[in-house]
Amino acid sequence: MPKELGDSAFADAGIPMAFVAPSQERGGLGRILAANGAMAFFTGRTKQELGGLSFAELVHRDDVALFEDLIARLCRGEMETCSFEKRFEHADGHRTWGLITVARGHELTGDRQGALVVQVHDISERKHFVGQLEYFADHDPLTSLYNQRRFRIDVDRQLAYARRHGGGGAVLMLDLDNFKGVNDQYGHAAGDALIIAVAAALSGNSRETDLVARLGGDEFAVLLPESSLDEAHSHAEQLLRAIAAVVVEGAGLSITVAASCGVAGFQSDDGQCADDVLINADLALYQAKESGRGCVKVFTTDSGLHEKVTARLLWSERIRDALDHDGFALHAKPVIDLQTDAVAFYELVIRLRAPGGILIPPAVFLYTAERFGMAIDIDEWVTGRAITLLEEMDPEHPRALAVNLSGASLQGERFAQFLEAHLANATFPRELLIFELTESVAMANLERARQFGRVLRKLGCQLALDDFGAAFGSFFYLKHMPVDLLKIAGEYVRGLGTENDPADRLIIEAVVKLAKGLGTLVVAEFVGDQETRQDLLEMGVRLGQGAFLGPARDVLEIQSLQPHGAQPDPQMVTSPTEAGASGLVG
Ligand code: GH3
Ligand code: MG
Repeated sequence: MPKELGDSAFADAGIPMAFVAPSQERGGLGRILAANGAMAFFTGRTKQELGGLSFAELVHRDDVALFEDLIARLCRGEMETCSFEKRFEHADGHRTWGLITVARGHELTGDRQGALVVQVHDISERKHFVGQLEYFADHDPLTSLYNQRRFRIDVDRQLAYARRHGGGGAVLMLDLDNFKGVNDQYGHAAGDALIIAVAAALSGNSRETDLVARLGGDEFAVLLPESSLDEAHSHAEQLLRAIAAVVVEGAGLSITVAASCGVAGFQSDDGQCADDVLINADLALYQAKESGRGCVKVFTTDSGLHEKVTARLLWSERIRDALDHDGFALHAKPVIDLQTDAVAFYELVIRLRAPGGILIPPAVFLYTAERFGMAIDIDEWVTGRAITLLEEMDPEHPRALAVNLSGASLQGERFAQFLEAHLANATFPRELLIFELTESVAMANLERARQFGRVLRKLGCQLALDDFGAAFGSFFYLKHMPVDLLKIAGEYVRGLGTENDPADRLIIEAVVKLAKGLGTLVVAEFVGDQETRQDLLEMGVRLGQGAFLGPARDVLEIQSLQPHGAQPDPQMVTSPTEAGASGLVG
């Protein structure tokens, strides 16, 4: 390349670049021979100031020496380029992150001969987001306390510590009393304020070594390492008093709340795992609620809770039995084209058959299933049924089916292998099989979710993000996950026509716009009435679900899911892919 041309490409380049002399020390990068305008902007110095500085002076002190072995290898000719990340110190004192790529400047002549060509990509924003994502994988966004996932990990750690070093500890599980009434009477915002204030009271009344978490909803937990049962009991009573003293102003009134607490201990030699301790604390909490609320109950093996443990175990056996003997029913919730009323696809939901023809919804048993490690079995059962239904479906009238997955199926290779094996001989178009992950499950397992998304892409199945927008960072995922479908979190849809309307409307419109750009479909959940349906259509949302649009029915009752030969529904049939191709997204 002619020198002038190279010079101007260098000077005008949009990304920070510099020619840097190699150095035997200081991270391998020595004196800056020349830097372009973008580098001046990135570092907050003029080009003149940069000339003559050592590159190390731009870099955070602790990062200077990192990766110097790579540069040494580059200089020895063992590689042509190398890349690594370092923190930079901007002239105004703030810190940035750069992805540095270093190449040998083969064609450089004159005073630049032998220099290294350094390019820097500003990755501060990505680092910032990843940092926040990591934070929210462990923390509850409302209260900033640790979340359930992190709490279980820490209980496990504490148990392992006790096994190694002896001793024991306790777990307190707290749940606010009649909290639904607070929401109903004073509104959700006042309820949120109370949850935040309770979180602060729990943290304020805990020792530094205690671990306070929000398990979800109005449920909190505290881990007391190295505490006896008696100490745990009196600490629990102190916490209940602190909660009772919390006052929040709402609707011109002072709102207070009480709580109940269950306590369970663990010892170095009792062989319990985190789930055992949490279940015991949960059972004691249940007993506190049953005996009038506002009190503390301690789990002991002779406290009559044995039967309840057995009941829990019976539950797990019931689930096991249902898995082994087809004791589940599968319902299909239609997702409707809001314009034509055609069924775009069905979301499959599982029910546990109980004696007397009662069907138990997943909210009741999935918790136990997860705690007893059966969540993947359930996911596999539903997926197996979905594959069979798709295989038997009339190919003239295909209907896509969506399966909800638990976080457990993202861990390890088991579920992905199951899916590959079961799809190996399947003949239906693979895009008819959709998997739904809630945004919070995806967030807690971001890397696994991404890998799973890639597996689905390879297999030709589709991935939907459920409850989209409910948590922080929603938009960030889309950059990182191969998603085909977004289901807008129900809370935004429900907000239409209420006082929250303007904000909810903006969020839905933003999701539609984003989806359009990415070529994904948007589904609105909880469509409750005709006005909402019309509103959504005007905002460009074409797919919706909710009891108003069509109730969930047993798959056995839905003709279009029956083996071919059976008469299909008169409704038009599309797969989401066809829907997308036919411009279903606004
Ligand atoms: P109980 O005494 O048996 O605990 O009754 P409860 O009314 O407190 O009911 P429960 O603990 O079973 O349910 C908790 C309720 O808390 C359910 C839901 O309405 C509400 N809730 C859950 N998460 C939130 C939240 O983030 N904010 C608000 N404001 N309310 C929530
Ligand atoms: Mg409660």
